[in-house]
Amino acid sequence: MMFEPPIPVLLPHGLFDEDGRCHRQGELRPLTGRDEWTLAVAGDRPDPRAVSELLASCLGRLGDYPRVDAALTSALTRGDRHHLTLHLRARMYGDRMSLVARCPAPGCGAMADVDVRLSTLAPERPDAAPEVLSVALPEGRAEVREPTGEDDAVLADVAGPRSERSALLWSRLVEVDGRPLTPDGWKALPAKSRHAVAVALAEGTTAPDLGLLGRCPRCAAWLELELDPFALLARELRGGAARLESEVHCLAFHYHWSETDILALPRARRWRYLELLRNELEGRPLVDGWS
Ligand SMILES: [Zn+2]
Repeated sequence: MMFEPPIPVLLPHGLFDEDGRCHRQGELRPLTGRDEWTLAVAGDRPDPRAVSELLASCLGRLGDYPRVDAALTSALTRGDRHHLTLHLRARMYGDRMSLVARCPAPGCGAMADVDVRLSTLAPERPDAAPEVLSVALPEGRAEVREPTGEDDAVLADVAGPRSERSALLWSRLVEVDGRPLTPDGWKALPAKSRHAVAVALAEGTTAPDLGLLGRCPRCAAWLELELDPFALLARELRGGAARLESEVHCLAFHYHWSETDILALPRARRWRYLELLRNELEGRPLVDGWS
């Protein structure tokens, strides 16, 4: 198909505006060649800001926001960003996916396939989610929100031990009796209170559950793995980078289009032009039924 219409996608959490209205209904456009290339060279762990740019370029609209920019996609929850990325992946490569993991059992180490359907990982959630979750603590009423792309971008800039980074994240997510916390304020809460907040978020989250289970084919041990949707899509696009280069070469060589113009096309359109070109070069009808 030459022109791919945007597909509707309902975010599990959605973006709350200043009036408290939630915007969940989005439109997902196909990635352009430029987007594919950017993510293909982004490395194993794409930077959260690069993910925001990518999501902004393929999210056509969101609720009452007719235009979506990176500031808006960075304000989406991590779960919504994972949801969108899984749908992008399914659109490009299909709903089924096979991951390979090494068996952790001592002395085994066999490679096991774990098959996943992305639609079961990121199902549509018709029910609206609350903007924040509330927990009653001895210290007061805590409100916790889901982490966003902006939180992940801030964390990516901070070095230091895991415990410090974790305290920084929680201090951004949690307020007690309407008062924001500092990282030290979070650490000063009793362990029981911190645990209660973490449990409330884990139970109330709308994020896709990315923990996968498989069975070792040799020793039948259980394998657990955690899917990172951004890393997955980046890895698959990296695998197609050489093909993308040859597509640009072939279209530029025959049509004399610029690299910029070719990379502005989504994959389906590039492939359709390549198909027409092959028909032309092989002397076949360009379109069935035409001479
Ligand atoms: Zn095993």
